[in-house]
Amino acid sequence: MKKYLKNTWEALWTIFIGMKITFKHLFVPAVTIQYPDEHRPIPDRARNRLYVNIDDCIGCMQCQRACPVQCINIETVKAVPGDEPGNTSLGTKKALWVTKFEIDFAKCMYCQLCVFPCPTECIYMTEVFEFSEDKREELVYNFSNLNLVEIAEKKKKYEEFMAEKAAQKAAAAKAKAEAAAKAKAEAAAKEEKEKKDDNNQTSSDKKQ
Ligand code: SF4
Ligand code: SF4
Repeated sequence: MKKYLKNTWEALWTIFIGMKITFKHLFVPAVTIQYPDEHRPIPDRARNRLYVNIDDCIGCMQCQRACPVQCINIETVKAVPGDEPGNTSLGTKKALWVTKFEIDFAKCMYCQLCVFPCPTECIYMTEVFEFSEDKREELVYNFSNLNLVEIAEKKKKYEEFMAEKAAQKAAAAKAKAEAAAKAKAEAAAKEEKEKKDDNNQTSSDKKQ
């Protein structure tokens, strides 16, 4: 009986100690927040998810070269005359279509090294830090704003432009070669004629 009362007392005392701490915290400001409904403010220089304002991207690939883990994958197509991509918001003329701009956030280590070399400041860290996915491939973000049909069209236009340029170059080379051959033939004919004239002159001199 004595042991029973002792155990009961210890149990009540333990509850009292625990509840004392609980009651104490009822009257002090909470240190926890109701995440994910509430968020703590993010520091200005926090390293979170990247964003690319593709309208300002000139496709220079400096971010891709700076990335130490090669998680940026960019492809471009040269713009042809009459189908230029326009200017950036700061007025830089764009010469390339950015047909692919992927960042694999499963590999990204948020070092921010890609941000600093960007000449148009169009790749930057956002405040977003929650972007988990069920599948790894869903962490590959594509920022290009061209669809597959447009990409195929840009590539086709560039190939046609290059083929036309090559044809023009070949035609110019052919015309140059023909002109050179013609000039050579004319020079040879002239030389032949001069030789003949010289021979005729020598024969007439001998007769006299
Ligand atoms: S933050 Fe670092 S790892 Fe991520 S894409 Fe930029 S350079 Fe690569
Ligand atoms: S450095 Fe900037 S402009 Fe150049 S490809 Fe990367 S995001 Fe685009």
